[in-house]
Amino acid sequence: MRKSYFIIIFLLAFSPGAMYHNPVAEKGIIYLTFDDGPQQGSENVNDVVLKEKIKVDVFLVGKYALLSDANMDNYELYAENPYVERCNHSFTHGNMHYELFYLNPLNAYDDFALNGYMLQLNNTICRLPGCNTWRLPQRSYSATKPGNKTANLLAANGARIFGWDLQWDYSPKTNTPLQTPDEMIALVDSLMSYKRTFTPGHIVISCNDQMFKHSAQKLQLFEFIGKLKATGSYRFEHLSKYPNAGVIFESREVAD
Ligand SMILES: [Zn+2]
Repeated sequence: MRKSYFIIIFLLAFSPGAMYHNPVAEKGIIYLTFDDGPQQGSENVNDVVLKEKIKVDVFLVGKYALLSDANMDNYELYAENPYVERCNHSFTHGNMHYELFYLNPLNAYDDFALNGYMLQLNNTICRLPGCNTWRLPQRSYSATKPGNKTANLLAANGARIFGWDLQWDYSPKTNTPLQTPDEMIALVDSLMSYKRTFTPGHIVISCNDQMFKHSAQKLQLFEFIGKLKATGSYRFEHLSKYPNAGVIFESREVAD
């Protein structure tokens, strides 16, 4: 009787159930996204991503790709980079007049459709210009109203619309980041630990390509990613893998 008691204790202590009490901590998932490419800065972003070997999403604007050969070259860099998931940020970026752009949802919808066609995008991930708007299956959020009808129309036709949990702000005058890498990491840690993100445990960070067009700012991007990696608390993932997003995607396998 006593012997079997010890056997039971032994089995409990080393069974998978016991292991459950000491799990390896689940890492928070970071979705690092870059808006408004291809443009100046895209080449640096692409280079950092290749060297750091992290998965990122880029939200592309077809009109910018057609502006210059250099921009088109940067588009090609993204297209050839296995760590980059290319997504739809509209063809015209609303010509930077968002209220006007969203006044006609059908035209705005067509603008996204044209962009997807022109840039040969192979997934249903979109981001509205100028709006932190989310439309995922059974979940939605809008920080502002103007893009709502456009977002609903896109979503009704299969688009998965991602806003952001955290934006790396930049100066409109100098196009340089306003927060330091350390300040950004503190914000990431805070939002994650207090579960202040659209989905707890997951954080979508929005940057802009042009923030990193100079070498000093490129180094800041290296620093941000390197320090996030060094925490051991996070891993980087594509938006197509965001929980319950149901992104329709003709997947290319990407090395971890
Ligand atoms: Zn944008």
